[in-house]
Amino acid sequence: VPQERAFDVERGVVRLADVGGLEKVKERLEASFLAPLRNPELRRLYGKSLRGGLLLYGPPGCGKTYLAKAVAGELGAAFLHVALADVLDMYVGSSERNIAELFAVARESAPCVLFLDELDALGQKRSLSRNSGMRTTVNQLLTELDGIGRDNEGVFVLAATNHPWDVDAALRRPGRLDRTLLVLPPDRPAREAILRTHLRGRPIENIDLSALAKRTDGLSGADLAHLCESAAEVALMDSVRSGTTRMIRMSDLTTALEEVRPSIDPWLETAR
Ligand code: ATP
Repeated sequence: VPQERAFDVERGVVRLADVGGLEKVKERLEASFLAPLRNPELRRLYGKSLRGGLLLYGPPGCGKTYLAKAVAGELGAAFLHVALADVLDMYVGSSERNIAELFAVARESAPCVLFLDELDALGQKRSLSRNSGMRTTVNQLLTELDGIGRDNEGVFVLAATNHPWDVDAALRRPGRLDRTLLVLPPDRPAREAILRTHLRGRPIENIDLSALAKRTDGLSGADLAHLCESAAEVALMDSVRSGTTRMIRMSDLTTALEEVRPSIDPWLETAR
């Protein structure tokens, strides 16, 4: 049976400026990836290597994937997104082949940001309860990350997890995913910026972004994106019904807000 591939190559249009808040995280991405890449002479002068990758962690929906996409957008690089849980395979041997293929595709697509989501799926804790082939899968990933005998130039690895404590320690050693960045829920100014990003290009009128940001404490970036989407849907349906188009109003957003359930709280519960 032909297997569906667990990964797709995209060309990013998201830029770092589209990511709301997370100023410190954006600075770290700039210093560890973007500035060294844009300035090869300075990189050589200071002996800054491009080895190793970054591990983003934090509650769901706060922009880990979005940040990785933005890095690809900034570099004009391809974006290869894979959930590791999808790569794992019940049949021994298949997961290794999938990982090898994944890195082969990444090298072919270079310059490329390879985004490994749900890295904890390869965690030691889980490997005890699942098949014993997990160890060889982790080893395959380590080999690929170390670029043994191959050229990883132009492949930038970013990984993400909601459960950093479950990530296999070997993956965190120097030269591998050796730097971690905490991606926290948006504060008020960040929520305002995220709402602005997601309403951009949509017809809006009299929307008080600052008031809305105040009222959305506890919502993730994904929740806020969903809020804008719901408001757009209401305006669209009204237009279908009335036969005339209208702007998206503040009341569309506040009504949608009543239906949104914050998605961060459950994560904070499990993290305790
Ligand atoms: P998960 O852990 O569930 O994979 P995640 O942290 O990777 O979550 P994203 O997929 O990056 O979350 O976020 C989902 C969507 O929410 C994004 O596609 C984007 O539209 C919006 N979003 C989240 N955070 C931000 C942000 N800081 N700025 C702008 N948009 C955001």
